[in-house]
Amino acid sequence: MTDTAATSNNFVAKIVEEDLASGKISKVVTRFPPEPNGYLHVGHAKSICLNFGLAQQFGGDCFLRFDDTNPEKESQEYIDAIQDDVRWLGFEWVGDVRYSSDYFDTLYDYAVELIKAGKAYVCSLTAEQAEEYKGDFNRPGKPSPFRERSIEENLDMFARMRAGEFNDGEHVLRAKIDMASGNMNLRDPILYRIRRIHHHQTGDKWCIYPTYDFTHGQSDALEGITHSVCTLEFEDHRPLYEWFIDNLPVPAKPRQYEFGRLNLNYTVTSKRKLKRLVDEAVVAGWDDPRMPTISGMRRRGFTPRSVRNFCHMIGVSRSDGMVDVAMLEHALRDDLNKHAPRAMAVLNPLKVVIENLPEDHLEMLKADYHHELELGQREMPFSREILIDQDDFKEEYSKKFKKKFTPGKRIRLRHSYVLEAVDYDKDEQGNVTLVRAKLIENTLGQDPADGDKPKGVVHWVSASHAVEAEVRWYERLFTSPTPDKGEGDFMDNVNKDSLSVRTAWVEPALAKAQAEQVYQFEREGYFVADRFDHSTEKPVFNLTIGLREDKSLSQPTPEKE
Ligand code: ATP
Ligand code: MG
Repeated sequence: MTDTAATSNNFVAKIVEEDLASGKISKVVTRFPPEPNGYLHVGHAKSICLNFGLAQQFGGDCFLRFDDTNPEKESQEYIDAIQDDVRWLGFEWVGDVRYSSDYFDTLYDYAVELIKAGKAYVCSLTAEQAEEYKGDFNRPGKPSPFRERSIEENLDMFARMRAGEFNDGEHVLRAKIDMASGNMNLRDPILYRIRRIHHHQTGDKWCIYPTYDFTHGQSDALEGITHSVCTLEFEDHRPLYEWFIDNLPVPAKPRQYEFGRLNLNYTVTSKRKLKRLVDEAVVAGWDDPRMPTISGMRRRGFTPRSVRNFCHMIGVSRSDGMVDVAMLEHALRDDLNKHAPRAMAVLNPLKVVIENLPEDHLEMLKADYHHELELGQREMPFSREILIDQDDFKEEYSKKFKKKFTPGKRIRLRHSYVLEAVDYDKDEQGNVTLVRAKLIENTLGQDPADGDKPKGVVHWVSASHAVEAEVRWYERLFTSPTPDKGEGDFMDNVNKDSLSVRTAWVEPALAKAQAEQVYQFEREGYFVADRFDHSTEKPVFNLTIGLREDKSLSQPTPEKE
């Protein structure tokens, strides 16, 4: 890949390197294991870059596995979207997509093994009773009255749970570990629950489902994952996962390593909260360009490389931290500055009539799409009437505005001629409505012969050839740097003005833009042709990001290892 993300020396990479050097492993195998219960967000991008990146860096394999143990929250829509997102980011998994549900038979057999070894039992406490028996951080749990059921009775009841003889929630299968453990996860955790729910992969084959905790580590073991990399909230689950691995006839023993999840200011990174934004129609869907989802960022005009570079910049640490969203914006701007073609669009038009050109003057000017890269050229019609930005004309000359157009002063039209303003019209409110100008001859690509060089260069479009485009202007979705902290609900911090629809007059070549192509509209910002709504007949561009960093925000603070 042609970006900086190719090699990393984060702490997990160092561990993998050592394990390969010492011969502990001969090949690294990682996986990205989403639950298909929502769209992926920027936090997942960090995990994807880490897991796939390790495999790339050390010549190993990375799998995509859906940890699909909660069918009521999962759907095919999410499964499809997640695969699209991983591929869009530039990664490809080894082999077919995998599902934890592929292992439901094996997991059932494992549960039977535990029962036979006296290490699991069917518990018939109600959920409330079980909660009470569990105790809390200050109070040890009490053993369930069903803890000493015989192996035979447990085997029989578990088989009947599977056969559908009981109601949902009537019994659960629990591991028999330690009700007094300081680690709540070891207080006889649930392994199986009865739930009559159709599963997107296994249909109606099962009416009992294994818990995430009983599934995740064994799935890793069955796949021969060497380094099971996950976020810090699973640190307390590691002793449980290791207990399963030690007590079951698994084919391999993966090691789990935890890293700090990505938190970004002005952003929420929780599928549950993002789902609320969608369900309550605060945004137009999971891929709304304001969403920090991978599909939202894609529609916003992020390039896969900019997201990978960002993940590389923030690094991977062993502790949770908060990353300034300005860093993500920096990665985006940096990538677009280097790679995006340039073109012209006028957002606040002011008509300029070039009086010394004939009415029917039409000239096709050629302009490069990029000043350094070979991105080709386009033709720009140049005619007697053009549009410039209102802000580029001033009624009176001043030192402050010396780069602007003003009567008697000159400007250069980008990729075109030098003009001198003659006079202008105003409406009743005092707004300038039209500027009359003259073209200075022989100034295409050269300075005026009289030596009166213009100070400023402005963008423009030909008035009759420009195409009207819809511009969706986005601001931050949240007004608070920590939307989900403090009092109240994160929804209280939604920015009500995060979208405004504007009009731009774009040069004809932009109307023919490919969907998803990002351009720098010169002197305005970066804009992307909307992935779904843009067409030549009705161009639609999304504001990706402005040209310069908003200095009112704090400076980025990279996470330290
Ligand atoms: P959410 O909290 O948004 O629901 P999740 O952790 O439940 O996320 P999963 O589908 O289980 O989502 O995540 C798949 C992988 O992505 C896991 O290994 C998880 O640790 C990782 N991941 C999720 N969120 C982040 C984040 N903010 N930063 C880094 N990695 C993350
Ligand atoms: Mg999760």
